[in-house]
Amino acid sequence: MPTLLARKGVALSIRKGQHIRVTNTHGKQVVDFWAFNPSDSHDYLSTVHSRRMLSNVSLRKGQSLYSTRRKPIVTLVEDTTPGIHDIILPACDAERYRMLGATDYHDNCHDNMHGALREHCPDFKVADDWVPDPFNMFLNVAIDHDGSLHLRPPTSEKGQYVVLRAEADLIIVMSSCPQDMTPINAGQPADLEYAVFDDASCSREASSSISRSLTRPTSPKRVKVAISFDFDAVSGWLGTGCHPDNNMADYSSGIFAGQVGAIRLLNLLKKTNIADKVTWFIPGHTIETFPASVQKVVESGAEIGLHGYSHEGIYQMTSQQESDVLDKCIEVATKLCGGKKPRGYRAPLYTIRETTVELLRRHQFLYDSSLSHHDSEPFWTPADPPIEKIDFSKDASSWMHPTPIRDPKDLNPFASNPDIHPLVEIPCNWYSEDMTPLHYFPHVNNSMGYVSTRVVEQMWKDKFMWLWENAPGNNEEAHDEFDSERANDSADFVFPLLMHPDTSGMAHIIGMCERMIDWFKGFGDSVQFHKHEDIAKEWLAAQKAKQSKDP
Ligand SMILES: [Zn+2]
Ligand SMILES: [Zn+2]
Repeated sequence: MPTLLARKGVALSIRKGQHIRVTNTHGKQVVDFWAFNPSDSHDYLSTVHSRRMLSNVSLRKGQSLYSTRRKPIVTLVEDTTPGIHDIILPACDAERYRMLGATDYHDNCHDNMHGALREHCPDFKVADDWVPDPFNMFLNVAIDHDGSLHLRPPTSEKGQYVVLRAEADLIIVMSSCPQDMTPINAGQPADLEYAVFDDASCSREASSSISRSLTRPTSPKRVKVAISFDFDAVSGWLGTGCHPDNNMADYSSGIFAGQVGAIRLLNLLKKTNIADKVTWFIPGHTIETFPASVQKVVESGAEIGLHGYSHEGIYQMTSQQESDVLDKCIEVATKLCGGKKPRGYRAPLYTIRETTVELLRRHQFLYDSSLSHHDSEPFWTPADPPIEKIDFSKDASSWMHPTPIRDPKDLNPFASNPDIHPLVEIPCNWYSEDMTPLHYFPHVNNSMGYVSTRVVEQMWKDKFMWLWENAPGNNEEAHDEFDSERANDSADFVFPLLMHPDTSGMAHIIGMCERMIDWFKGFGDSVQFHKHEDIAKEWLAAQKAKQSKDP
């Protein structure tokens, strides 16, 4: 297989329909990539036109890059890397290295392009000193919420590769970027390999012959995005949000959620085709106070889960009241869903205690979604005794002992504990939701509400990208992070996001929800939307299968 030497460039002709595979032989090496139409000097790969045509600043598998004539020029047909490439930055040049402090000549992609064309395609003339902006294969440029760009080491590992299909007869130029003064090549420019094939299947076959020592086993990512909506409405002001000063204006914002916010979100879900792939946790009070809106939620095909009656905080109720509330909510939701009993529960404001878990097990719930022992994997809902609080009126020796936390194996009915009802936990907490940062409550400690949606959006994307780059499916070391019981065979990771009609139904926030949904869709088949119920069922099935295979 031909080698593209570190710090050097190469140029070659490729016919329409042929494929070029570029292998990141040693990992973490950026390639500047150009494509020219040999018979039209004004037609070449244009990153600015590609950005416009894609309405995006990156390229995903299945998408094309475009020419100055707005025609597809190459298509990314295969990508075994985590999918981070760049179409924003220019090629490095002598001036760039001078600005970084180089006093002597430094190899650069600008000169490499001209040198490669002169050496390999001498008949193809380009203007002296002209270099179009390249497609920066493997370059990792993170965009912050304020639009600032951060250059990071590439995410591509040893042996990972991309395959591009030529959409026209082309002259292609590649430069193994010699940048060693910033981290974009992880500090050490390296060789790469490339090969041209007549069709994609050849490129896949040949790729399997890459020596094993170079190839880290990778499979396409599978991420399950678990979007849920807690339909608090007026109930939010009655239970956890109760306060003697609550007045008509406070309740008014709850009525907005019931009559306006929920409908806006339902329309967004319909427009993005995911209405039947999400879960709504609806308090009994909302079901009975806003029947028309709630009926539309049911008709959307969404899953309905429980969320208290009046959004009661667990600290506000006796055990008996807690049990009575759950009974009533099961009854109301079962009637709403034409006899189908709800299978999932989320505690209002995540206020859950050991008695709640016992009740959920007694009522044979499939899952709860109020805890965060893990942030991106389902796990067994715990069954530990309450953690003891410190009594500072006593001697220090009275509290200095460890807290017993049960081994997850003990909660696995398919392993060591056949008597326990299997109760799956789908993680959720403050950092997965819109309301804490984006909603103002006059009487709630730490209530915010004037945070930019871009801050929240960026936090969610940062979390997603860290998991994308580090989740167990692509990272052997990560398998030890929790323990073997944790491994979720039905996805590389689960990504919970919680929104409220009260909050995300507001006109300055709902655009963020739409941007997030579109962003997830940009990952193609690797990222799918699922109801909580389906994620819990599949995880349970995977645990069962694992146990019968490896008892
Ligand atoms: Zn460069
Ligand atoms: Zn709530």
